[in-house]
Amino acid sequence: MSKITQYSTIGALMSGHFSGDFPLNSNHSPTLFGLGCSCGISGELTVCGGEFWEATAGEKLHKLTDCRLPFLQVTEFVAENEFEAKGINEANLDQHLSQQLAIANIFLAVNVKSCFDKVVIRRPQRDETQTRSVEEMADAQQVDTLTTISGQLIGFWTPELFGRISVPGFHFHFLSEDRRYSGHVLSFKTAEATVAYQVKTSIEIHNPTSAAFGDLNIDVTKLDELIGNVEK
Ligand SMILES: [Zn+2]
Repeated sequence: MSKITQYSTIGALMSGHFSGDFPLNSNHSPTLFGLGCSCGISGELTVCGGEFWEATAGEKLHKLTDCRLPFLQVTEFVAENEFEAKGINEANLDQHLSQQLAIANIFLAVNVKSCFDKVVIRRPQRDETQTRSVEEMADAQQVDTLTTISGQLIGFWTPELFGRISVPGFHFHFLSEDRRYSGHVLSFKTAEATVAYQVKTSIEIHNPTSAAFGDLNIDVTKLDELIGNVEK
């Protein structure tokens, strides 16, 4: 399937709409793939093989079932296009992909598997009160630098044009092979990796329907700054 399904938008999330409007049920396709966050941005979610992994600062990596989510971006991923890449990092992966196809205006689901030299990941603190601001959430995060670690990057490439719907450029979450580490990827480096991707020609967005979302004040100028600072 060439479609990305998305619950809410990065713009609504970064405008402070963290409440769990979308139910996460327990049965998922074994090829479901993607990322998101849990209620109140208490954890970064990585979706792999139909399983939802929640990474929260100071907690063991665990599976999430039966809850409600504020933001989710998923697709059915089957690696149709794959290549071996040498010397890749967060800054040059777009150039490697550009040698395969013109990526400036299209969506891709991207999966990078490797034994990474280095991956820097970030996880938020759990927020029981569910009342904090985007800035408070962004300040309360744990950053870990993992070295010589096997795993995969799971995520999407979004064209600049769609930068208020989804994080423009790459948005990756990491999942270690031993399922001990996960989180939002700040940077990575590897000598050799298998890069699999799928072109996604359509995106389906489920907008929240709550009254709180209806009343949400979205300042797009501030929003563009926040997406650049917090998500990239
Ligand atoms: Zn993320």
